[in-house]
Amino acid sequence: MTDRIIPLLDERVRAPRPAIPAQLETPTGRLTDRLARHLHDLRISVTDRCNFRCTYCMPREVFDSNYRFLPHAELLTFEEITRLARIFIDHGVEKIRLTGGEPLLRKDLERLIGMLASLTTRAGQPLDLTLTTNASILARKARALAAAGLKRVTVSLDALDDAVFRRMNDADFPVADVLRGIDAAAAAGLAPIKINMVVKRGTNDDEIAPMARHFRGSGHILRFIEFMDVGTSNGWRMDDVVPSAEVIKRIGAEWPVEPIDANYTGEVAERWRYRDGAGEIGVISSVTQAFCRTCTRARLSTEGKLYLCLFAQSGHDLRALVRGGASDAEISTAIAHIWRARSDRYSELRSQATVALPKIEMSYIGG
Ligand code: SF4
Repeated sequence: MTDRIIPLLDERVRAPRPAIPAQLETPTGRLTDRLARHLHDLRISVTDRCNFRCTYCMPREVFDSNYRFLPHAELLTFEEITRLARIFIDHGVEKIRLTGGEPLLRKDLERLIGMLASLTTRAGQPLDLTLTTNASILARKARALAAAGLKRVTVSLDALDDAVFRRMNDADFPVADVLRGIDAAAAAGLAPIKINMVVKRGTNDDEIAPMARHFRGSGHILRFIEFMDVGTSNGWRMDDVVPSAEVIKRIGAEWPVEPIDANYTGEVAERWRYRDGAGEIGVISSVTQAFCRTCTRARLSTEGKLYLCLFAQSGHDLRALVRGGASDAEISTAIAHIWRARSDRYSELRSQATVALPKIEMSYIGG
């Protein structure tokens, strides 16, 4: 294993305060970027902390005991998050996903969920409010999250075998805790539950069939994610990627599957179902089948920086506007200008040269 020296602090800081255009705009809800992509999904990271050290996201040798996580005063408050969410909704956002780090570690998260759940889309519909979690503490939180207004959850689970799980997540948590969390979420009505499995060749790809077998017929949707070169700390190599086509082939060899249509334009996972009616699976293929052309996602970091791509190198400091006395109209117009200038399509442009670029860490802006 090579030593990885990464100037993480530099990446986080590099987010200039956006300019406030002289001509303020009234949002139309139909904001598009340079590739005619709407702004539909907002991912909000509510903490940069996590109780796991997944090797593909937050490797322990980098995020060690000396790592300086953001002080609480730096984080957006729930009121600031809700204010920004309202402004993004005016621009057309209909889905908000809470991420981290591990979002359930943020104290009083239910209060934030209640505030966001009270917001409606421009069409007056309830927001699609969801959350991605490692489910380590979901079993005791699920009921309160649902009562606060959360609609669904996505659970990260990379193996059923405890030893393999620990190899991927470097955490001293048994798989049983995660499975209990999934059951509690189902009992609380946070369905459909999606299960995300990051597949790394030679580490957990032998778990593809056991995971499929376990979740077949459960009503939960298991998705296989290609190992990605997010950030600069996970030692990504193409050799470690199991292409989604191979995953589907492996599963199809045991349980015939067929492709099904996307639920909406911009849906991240490619959907498949078992021919015998045992449910749905998905693949997320950022490496071998880029889906940038329909990417409608913006990301807000824990301390209020706006990123336009998971593989971004720099962001836009919205907190500086929020705490600098800017009005909603000024912040809204600044966001409109930022999105309109967006042309990100990293996965289409990925090459050996891009892998080494100083990209922002996934643990900081959420997957
Ligand atoms: S690489 Fe960036 S632009 Fe492409 S789908 Fe992912 S987040 Fe969107």
